[in-house]
Amino acid sequence: MTYIKNHSKRKPVVLCFSGHDPSGGAGIQADIEAITAQGVHAATIVTALTCQNTSHVLSFQAVNADKLQKQAEVLLKDMTVDVIKIGMTADVDVVKAIHHIIKQHKEIPVVLDPVLASGAGTSLSSDKLINAINTYLMPYCHLITPNIPEVIKLASIAEPDNTEIDVAASFLLHLGSEHVLVTGTHADLNVIEHKLYHVHDTLQSFRNERLPHEYHGSGCTLASSIAAFLAKGEDTNSAIQQGLDYTFDSLQHAHAPGQGQWLPDRLFQRNQND
Ligand code: PLP
Repeated sequence: MTYIKNHSKRKPVVLCFSGHDPSGGAGIQADIEAITAQGVHAATIVTALTCQNTSHVLSFQAVNADKLQKQAEVLLKDMTVDVIKIGMTADVDVVKAIHHIIKQHKEIPVVLDPVLASGAGTSLSSDKLINAINTYLMPYCHLITPNIPEVIKLASIAEPDNTEIDVAASFLLHLGSEHVLVTGTHADLNVIEHKLYHVHDTLQSFRNERLPHEYHGSGCTLASSIAAFLAKGEDTNSAIQQGLDYTFDSLQHAHAPGQGQWLPDRLFQRNQND
């Protein structure tokens, strides 16, 4: 059977590599919702299954890396992907499989949210995984969006203070990521400051007021909405500003279906139009 190509019907596409979170707060579901909310299509490849609720991550297991690589190859033969978004990678073999794909497709910008721990702090990584992310993914990234503990871990800084964040971010730029956006939620301040580092540009800051609850999936929401805005053709600064604004709004509309962290309402715009 031959299919008729109709490019006038084409939406921008973000290909996501992320873990599955059964609570629906983080991971692949967060990506699908945040990307769909921008009118962009999310193509999805699951990297890991997790056992968790809104309070705890009990365990996780990576998928078979060869199968994941095959899924991506088959998909990329079919669809034009505008941006690749990477979240939880879970193990070194998965990182290597994703490396293989992004190396073959250097023309596609990569946004990496280096998920090293859950929102509640449970580790989702190891030293080996961090080395693999630095070696195999970082050189191909257009943007990486670590929070403060993640940037410190990725740069292996033992006892951080505020100035060490600048040092850690420049370490990641030297590993090859074009931009590093360090999200500031973990600093104990009323106004949250997110810092964008670039090898050649001056440092830029974006500010948000602090919201009252603890949230699950805010990092995934931010990285995937930025990926969607990039896929729509926005430049990096504008995609970041719009991603931060959208994430803030989704957190302002957050709800609490469980007993732990609140979940962003990423489809709040649709609900407002109901
Ligand atoms: N991806 C998965 C599959 C997760 O389980 C988690 C946290 O538990 C995350 C990503 C990161 O979530 P957050 O956006 O809250 O940092």
